[in-house]
Amino acid sequence: AWRVLHDAADMKEETRTRCGQRISIFANINLLSDLKPAREFKAEGVGLYRSEFPFIVRNDFPTEEEQYVIYKKLVDQMEGRMVTFRTLDIGGDKMLSYYSNVNEANPFLGMRAIRFSLENKDIFSQQLRAFLRAGADADTRIMFPLVSSVDDFIAARDIAYECMSSLDAEGIAFNPDTKFGVMMELPSAVEVVDELAQEADFLSIGSNDLIQYMLAVDRTNEMVSSLYLAHHPAILRAINRIVRAGLKYEKDVSICGDLSADPRMLPFLLGVGLKKFSIDSVNAPTLQRLVNELNMEEAEKIARTMLALGRISEVEAFLLERNLAPE
Ligand code: PEP
Ligand code: MG
Repeated sequence: AWRVLHDAADMKEETRTRCGQRISIFANINLLSDLKPAREFKAEGVGLYRSEFPFIVRNDFPTEEEQYVIYKKLVDQMEGRMVTFRTLDIGGDKMLSYYSNVNEANPFLGMRAIRFSLENKDIFSQQLRAFLRAGADADTRIMFPLVSSVDDFIAARDIAYECMSSLDAEGIAFNPDTKFGVMMELPSAVEVVDELAQEADFLSIGSNDLIQYMLAVDRTNEMVSSLYLAHHPAILRAINRIVRAGLKYEKDVSICGDLSADPRMLPFLLGVGLKKFSIDSVNAPTLQRLVNELNMEEAEKIARTMLALGRISEVEAFLLERNLAPE
């Protein structure tokens, strides 16, 4: 009974809880073809653009110009709404056929995401320049995946600043107001979230990886899929800490992992104070409907109760009791 499916066409422009709290729903975009359903559900913007797709479908690294063309289309089609670019997140389960780093014993713990970008500054700079240029006259943000320290974030952002200086010197238009953010996906990042929140413009919770790395459960391994638990007390507390840090330093916090499409977890997420959700368009109507049915006071109470529980079994019993049973 939880999945109250209804159509994107029925969606209201604004999403509010029963008590009137405004909640924003953004779209996760993998391919440019995902923009159509995003526009149909009136997404308030793009909360996550997974930029690895233009890289995966080719036989070689795309040039700055080839990337610019794609990113510019994305920005134009969102017609002034905010677009969040994520820098290349290859490695792990996303390999490039033309780049041979396939000899890693533990690719999820290896040369993935921002680590690859920081090691390959030329490829990274080309992508950053393409993002910065596509953002000229638009509301754009850039976020870095798999950041494990403040140092990672600063190193990545410094390269973006260098790109801005060279674009400026070359007289090429770009967005000088681009915001820079951290994807919160690693336990190490959670431990230094206060410092990250001070340094970055925004934080975005990548719950798919946060769960994988906090619980040491490979998100692609069927044999351990029963251990991949969004409602593990450690995950609940980590999410709460991230939101608290954002509030403390007045930085925008959103969630872009699949967790935000999980109806069981929604009261908790609202209850800890998340107000910005980025999800696959197909789940947007259900999310809006569920938000409409919740009220903040109740959600806050649910979150407080869940945060006080130390065992997985206690959280499960609580969810069951509230008719929010794990699927
Ligand atoms: C995540 O990890 O939650 C996330 C949004 O990134 P991806 O699924 O692309 O790793
Ligand atoms: Mg991720």
